[in-house]
Amino acid sequence: MSETYDVLIIGGGPAGYPAAIRAAQNGLSAICVDAWQNRDGSSALGGTCLNAGCIPSKAMLESSELYHRAQHELAVHGVRVGAVTLDLPAMHKRRAGIVKGMTGGIAGLFKSAGVKTIFGQAQLLPGRQVQVTARDGSMQTITARHVIIASGSVPTALNSVPFDGERIVDSGGALELAEVPRRLCVIGAGVIGLELGSVWRRLGSEVTLLEALPTFLPMADQQLAGEAARQFRKQGLEPRLGARVSGASVGKDGVIVNYSDAKGEQNVVADRVVIAVGRRPNTAGLLADGTGVKIDERGFVVVDEECRTGAENVWAVGDCVRGPMLAHKGKEEGVAVSDRIAGRYAHVDYALVPSVIYTAPEIAWVGQTEEQLKAGGIPYKSGVFPFAASGRAKAMESTAGFVKLLAHRQSDAILGVHVIGPMAGELIAEAVLAMEFRASAEDLQRTMHAHPTLAEAMHEAALATDKRAIDAPNR
Ligand code: NAD
Repeated sequence: MSETYDVLIIGGGPAGYPAAIRAAQNGLSAICVDAWQNRDGSSALGGTCLNAGCIPSKAMLESSELYHRAQHELAVHGVRVGAVTLDLPAMHKRRAGIVKGMTGGIAGLFKSAGVKTIFGQAQLLPGRQVQVTARDGSMQTITARHVIIASGSVPTALNSVPFDGERIVDSGGALELAEVPRRLCVIGAGVIGLELGSVWRRLGSEVTLLEALPTFLPMADQQLAGEAARQFRKQGLEPRLGARVSGASVGKDGVIVNYSDAKGEQNVVADRVVIAVGRRPNTAGLLADGTGVKIDERGFVVVDEECRTGAENVWAVGDCVRGPMLAHKGKEEGVAVSDRIAGRYAHVDYALVPSVIYTAPEIAWVGQTEEQLKAGGIPYKSGVFPFAASGRAKAMESTAGFVKLLAHRQSDAILGVHVIGPMAGELIAEAVLAMEFRASAEDLQRTMHAHPTLAEAMHEAALATDKRAIDAPNR
């Protein structure tokens, strides 16, 4: 059987499904092929983000934070509770329910937009033909005027510590542990390591984070990273830096993870090990010979600034192409490509992709760090406002952290905003919007912010760049 569509999208994750919906909104016939398979064998749209990443991790972060706060932070509010106990199956049930609702939601969105779905493994053939192999082995070939590859990414394995799906798991497995491990070792203190380490630490695990690099959060502004390290240390989440993992063995007492650092050979014994050393593009077996699409040495589909591959009318977006592996970056690319296909204007501003780490305190930033500005010889001024001086943060009993705003010393243009503190991931949206509109620090200074809100910290940080903050001393 051979069918023809205007647009065929390979992958129904956060890059692919918005591309499909936008294509349909643009009056094009669209079909989305997805190979996701849950542990119970069922298919689902939404990719890693909805099924095993962003959404379930945020559900567990929220629940574990409430458990932690009920135990340790309610008393100061004058709220007395009896013994707080953990019902982990109920927590998992809530997580799974959210995932089911959200992934089912995409199916509903597809239906109302008129996007067709087909579950199976897609392979691109020459001439924009896509062969889809269903789980029962049956095959069909679909032809499309345009193909958008949005095949996402998969967890990177560590050769020295192979996954066994039980004691040694990836990030997806780490979200579903049926018991709280007494000792948890997380290899990789990046975004996933910190978020999952936080979840299980709050639920009672003793967590050891092993990080290969000598610097903590090297991609973040180092003033922010320093504050994060200080806060995580207090929580028992301090990463062991410069740790080179050489292997692991499963013994009677647990998994022994061997590593070396500046102090020499070391080991950690843990009941569970989570490998969180990054993700790699999911492109193995994706292309038949002769498609004209190129894959680089790291497995990424090679694309230009507008997500065009070398092959005519074949595009690629999201985690399987260059740039940060972030759902929101993939979404913007997917939507932009479907607009380009329809002949509409589209633009993705790669300089303004916000980053968020959903720990407590939350961490978020956009634009350049102080280290990048120094390295680039760009004259800048910095304004820092601590949440300890925010009335709303005090009322929330969440005063750790600050907003740091960097602006050009001469032009006053906002160059970077770095937030560690309550709701940082929400607050950063104002900074992204301001920077998207090429705002100056003065623009933010002259923008009224409701009182009392956390957002006032952004206002005050903008004022602090000119030493005109009102609610904190200007240094
Ligand atoms: P990451 O790149 O953020 O962190 C991986 C960490 O592992 C790095 O610090 C790296 O130095 C370290 N590492 C690599 N090899 C190691 C080794 N052998 N031993 C010890 N440490 C080692 O990747 P991640 O945390 O796995 O996340 C994967 C992707 O998913 C990232 O692109 C991330 O941005 C994305 N993600 C984003 C969010 C979010 O936006 N909140 C959440 C989860 C994942």
